[in-house]
Amino acid sequence: MTPSRPRRLSEVLERYALGLARERSLEVKKDDGGKNRGKLLARLKRLGVKGWPERLTLYTRSLPKGCQPCLRGQGSNLVMTLMCNRDCFFCFNPKPRAAGMSVHGRAVRTLEEVGDVFANLGVRSVGISGGEPLLERRKVLALARNLRRRFGPDLRIDLYTNGDLLSLELLKRLKAAGVNGLRMNLAANGYDAAPAALARRVFKDVEVEIPAIPEDKPKVLALLSRLEALGCRHLILHELFSSAANIEAMQCQGREAKAGKREARLTWSGVADSEETALSVVETALRERRKISVYYCSCGTQAWIAERAMDRMKTMRQGDNGEL
Ligand code: SF4
Repeated sequence: MTPSRPRRLSEVLERYALGLARERSLEVKKDDGGKNRGKLLARLKRLGVKGWPERLTLYTRSLPKGCQPCLRGQGSNLVMTLMCNRDCFFCFNPKPRAAGMSVHGRAVRTLEEVGDVFANLGVRSVGISGGEPLLERRKVLALARNLRRRFGPDLRIDLYTNGDLLSLELLKRLKAAGVNGLRMNLAANGYDAAPAALARRVFKDVEVEIPAIPEDKPKVLALLSRLEALGCRHLILHELFSSAANIEAMQCQGREAKAGKREARLTWSGVADSEETALSVVETALRERRKISVYYCSCGTQAWIAERAMDRMKTMRQGDNGEL
């Protein structure tokens, strides 16, 4: 699909920051499976699930390396561009798509400025994301080199990508530039593991991060087996959610919202049945003693991370004498 014409980044982020998602929301599902969720959670506890059940932050074996600092409030994310070569129905990026870099909704103009923001936040892990960041591959390589030079070997750098634009040569260059691992959204390509297989030829840490789409559970389970065979160590499922950016697509598909209070810190909310889907994939991984670790990052987890991000924003404001 041809990327749409870029808008000014500040204009897009302003609309997003105003919380336009709160104007409309999906109809709430009447019977949202609360009982089923409770039973699933009880079974997971019996099977020895790890994590924080009260936040619905759960995993089967280990947390991805980049998630550990993030959950401690020491992670951050650089959006390289909001432009993308795909148009996934679940995409939560604000539209119209905009070119330009940003950190926590704040536009940044130079790679040095990115480094300054991360230094100010005291981060230990960084995700380079988008949109599809590899539409700006030269900048991604330069940024990785820049961050590695400035922060040394202790900073964790993950690249988020849908995998479409990868090649063996680019993977080698990414590794040489200092990227530690890849986070791949393979729901974008219909759960085709080929990009992960290619990436595994160069990277030890190839993780797949996808939304838990209820009707796709059989495909996710097939992907789980394929990723395990490839030696991937983590499948990250996040709760499918609706926001201002995707609500129309969600409504067209007849999706409903999960019942219960919306997380106050978030401008998005969980879609019905996604959580049960994620939890049942976690259950399968535990029952079948899968070597690959499945991690469920819920809206509760994201609210938790957002609280930490707000604290970081305050630090940024102080560093900027009140300017954001
Ligand atoms: S690949 Fe990622 S950024 Fe691109 S449309 Fe899909 S979800 Fe959005």
